Amino acid sequence: MRGGFTRWRTFYMCAANSVDNPLKCRIFKRLPAIFIIVIRGDTVTDVVHNVIILGSGPAGLTAAIYAARADLKPLVIEGIQPGGQLTITTEVENYPGFENAIMGPDLMDVMKKQAARFGTSFEFATVNRVDLDGDVKVLYVGDKQFKCHTLVICTGATARWLGIDGEQRLMGRGVSACATCDGFFFRDKVIAVVGGGDTAMEEATFLTKFGSKVYVIHRRDTLRASKAMQERAMNNKKIEFIWNADVIDVEGEEKVTGIKLRNTKNGEESALECEGLFIAIGHVPNTSIFKGALDMDENGYLLVEAGNMKTKMPGVFAAGDVSDHVYRQAVTAAGMGCMAALDAERHLGDLGLA
Ligand code: NAP
Repeated sequence: MRGGFTRWRTFYMCAANSVDNPLKCRIFKRLPAIFIIVIRGDTVTDVVHNVIILGSGPAGLTAAIYAARADLKPLVIEGIQPGGQLTITTEVENYPGFENAIMGPDLMDVMKKQAARFGTSFEFATVNRVDLDGDVKVLYVGDKQFKCHTLVICTGATARWLGIDGEQRLMGRGVSACATCDGFFFRDKVIAVVGGGDTAMEEATFLTKFGSKVYVIHRRDTLRASKAMQERAMNNKKIEFIWNADVIDVEGEEKVTGIKLRNTKNGEESALECEGLFIAIGHVPNTSIFKGALDMDENGYLLVEAGNMKTKMPGVFAAGDVSDHVYRQAVTAAGMGCMAALDAERHLGDLGLA
């Protein structure tokens, strides 16, 4: 059989070499390989990866760095927002190793390059279905399948919206959840930011670079944000806080012209003129595709064992914001990504695959 193949190959290459045009000769030589790829198109995905990492934020890329350095040749499926939440943030001052801060997108870019350097491959796709039973886990991207022995879930969390009238209608026309992306459009304009956490403080502070005035609207009279972020916002002369207020409507036909507020203590309603409304009220974990397959808490965060990153499903691990609603920091996500990769490596070792 093998001898037959070798004879056939020799005959084919001789025929190819007899073609006098060098370009045509090269194409001729490659035709069989191209033919095999075309007829086997869908079965290329029959490869069972050692490790697939879902998500490309700090957790996913750190897992990739560790798995790649362990020679596990991980595949990262990047998801809808490659680089994760840090790609829509500005300066990151608390990620160790950067004395003078680093911009979120730059940090993610360098992490991706670091993961790629050790042999991580990347696929820009969004998984819409999973089958996690059995030793081989299957991920579906439409009709295409990705298979793996171990899966590290780092799908993170997504911005939460208020769900009020006008919010979605005026999205991109004054309403936004990303100051870094849209702040530029609000030069010398009045802006409102909703929320009382670190994100709201960070967005409000950043927006003072552009807006003439920035209101922070918070539903209580104390902030959830860290002391340092609170102080920075409170010391900024362009920022004014409106306490105990819910935003109940966004006004404007073509673009935002103002918002309606309701006092959470006495129910009084008032109007505030502004041209920008930035929603910064937290996130929802990206776990809908794992419903029924993996254990979650009441808010949809994946549950992992204490002291490691194992989910209830052997070979499936979770790391970062998708399983952490307490710390939610880039550095804690990265730490969890590292732990998940080490857990995956041990699992592969137990299976005799690493
Ligand atoms: P968060 O800490 O959960 O804060 C969400 C804020 O939005 C809270 O103040 C909450 O009010 C308010 N809120 C929630 N739902 C609301 C609604 N329907 N209407 C009005 N207000 C609503 O979320 P986050 O600020 O996005 O921060 C998430 C994590 O990331 C935190 O751990 C934070 O430390 C971290 N982070 C760090 C940095 C940094 O270090 N550079 C930057 C951003 C975020 P209540 O307070 O009343 O619940």
